[in-house]
Amino acid sequence: MENEIQHHKCLIIGSGPAGYTAAVYAARANMHPVLFTGPEPGGQLMITTDVENYPGYPDGIMGPAMMDEFRKQAERFGTDVRYEMISKVDFSGPVHKVWTEAGQEIHADSVVISTGASAKWLGLESEKRLTNKGVSACAVCDGFFFKDMDVAVVGGGDTAAEEASYLAKLCPQVHLIVRRDEMRASKVMQDRVLNTKNITVHWNTTTEEILGEEEVEAVRVKNTITGDLSEIPVKGFFVAIGHKPNTAIFKDWIKLDDVGYITTVPGTSRTNIEGVFASGDAQDRIYRQAVTAAGTGCMAALDAERYLVEKGVV
Ligand code: NDP
Repeated sequence: MENEIQHHKCLIIGSGPAGYTAAVYAARANMHPVLFTGPEPGGQLMITTDVENYPGYPDGIMGPAMMDEFRKQAERFGTDVRYEMISKVDFSGPVHKVWTEAGQEIHADSVVISTGASAKWLGLESEKRLTNKGVSACAVCDGFFFKDMDVAVVGGGDTAAEEASYLAKLCPQVHLIVRRDEMRASKVMQDRVLNTKNITVHWNTTTEEILGEEEVEAVRVKNTITGDLSEIPVKGFFVAIGHKPNTAIFKDWIKLDDVGYITTVPGTSRTNIEGVFASGDAQDRIYRQAVTAAGTGCMAALDAERYLVEKGVV
């Protein structure tokens, strides 16, 4: 019956490298995991092109292809993958309760949180209004729409550098808007940006407004040293200023840090709630790599298994 409460030994929330790795380990440990993919099955790697730093892929692999492999491996051992979102949890008792967006209540002995992180936005009214009308947080997803047009990227980290380099292959001119006089990105990525002829870096520059009614026409920027305002004509505006952890639904139960990352007991995946474990970018504000996410997904499944054995559930 649709609304009958289900009970599972191990529930995994999220479907990036952390969630799928937890699923592989949990399934092989006979925990019969049920994995809820969330709104973006595959997580952030679905909006990445080449992944060149994941061990085992000497020639690199496309992010979506890699996540497909992760999912297949999890399913091969019996993970029940559900393309739904968990929208509410209640971790007040020994049995952990969650609800899907459709209202289905599910109980679990153990929960692995691997909900990852999402792109941050500048918070401008024009940014919101022009989203999908030229404003995007993903060059790889949307860059093609701006082929042969000038675009801007805002941000100074590896993501911004990567997006600018990607767009430079499609667009005649890429304007990289950096708010300080230096970039946070790794040296190799900075060098790539600075050595690409059609990328212009605008240092000490902030975005005041994105201009255009029905579509992006230009961006109004401010030089923070001189205070001068100017307009850069662009058709696409890509926001690449970092990410925030997807942990809002847990905040009433799980200890989070000041930014919202889940706090775990050092060296483990344990949270402040017994039987609830955290892995991947939802609990990692430092490394945030696919391989570290996978590693912590493994830790979470092993910690959950140990917990279930202690409780006599498996
Ligand atoms: P980061 O947090 O590293 O960088 C965010 C950037 O955006 C900073 O330059 C920051 O400026 C700037 N920024 C933040 N808020 C604003 C704002 N309101 N207006 C203008 N600029 C703003 O995020 P990333 O997404 O770039 O990277 C996250 C992690 O992922 C990093 O550890 C990175 O190394 C990694 N990564 C690795 C890749 C790779 O190896 N290929 C690719 C992509 C990411 P400021 O410096 O002044 O704070």
